[in-house]
Amino acid sequence: MADPYLPALIDFAFDAAEAKVIKSALASAKPWDYKPVSAAEVALLKSAKKKILDLHLKRHGWTCCYCRTNLKGAGPFMTDREHVLPKGKAAYKSLSYTLWNLAAACKRCNMQFKGSGEGFVIDGADAAKFPESTNYRFVHPNFDRWEDHFTRLGIQVNATNIVKIVRKGSNKAAYAHDFFNLEDFEIDSFDAAQGLENDPEVSAALFELRKLAKAFGQ
Ligand SMILES: [Zn+2]
Repeated sequence: MADPYLPALIDFAFDAAEAKVIKSALASAKPWDYKPVSAAEVALLKSAKKKILDLHLKRHGWTCCYCRTNLKGAGPFMTDREHVLPKGKAAYKSLSYTLWNLAAACKRCNMQFKGSGEGFVIDGADAAKFPESTNYRFVHPNFDRWEDHFTRLGIQVNATNIVKIVRKGSNKAAYAHDFFNLEDFEIDSFDAAQGLENDPEVSAALFELRKLAKAFGQ
């Protein structure tokens, strides 16, 4: 398993008490939604889940692992703990607390596009392939470097945010761009900016961003 991000997953460990509750959770019918009986165990599971979120946010510079939207200070209404192989499917339930299957994503990518589908998995039956980049059609949050596949450019002028996500030509970039409808960001933000074309600051920023996107290959 390749791990291109820091802190490395291999260096992370739950403490012994958290690991014990996770073990009980994994033995239950719905491991991620497991409700321990004792208040102490509820607190331990909560702290383990917070550590998971903090670790993954840190690995992606506090941005969404799929679209690079800034999640710094965004809070729980914008940020999801994401299970790459969906936790609701029987085949992947045992991976509910496996670090390489977890990530931090924005609500848009997680709820609106990813959901509980598994069309992005190439072989969903052979568990030996699960921790491999080549088993995923999209850019995997833990096995692939997002920046090897995309460049996200953005300029904010006052209240106007203009974004361009440049693909670098890989199959994974093409798939992920469609899967997460990343063009949305560009269309929405460019449309909003064009509505403000009489604003010289916005139109100058738009011009610069287009130039920059061209320099990055698109
Ligand atoms: Zn996102």
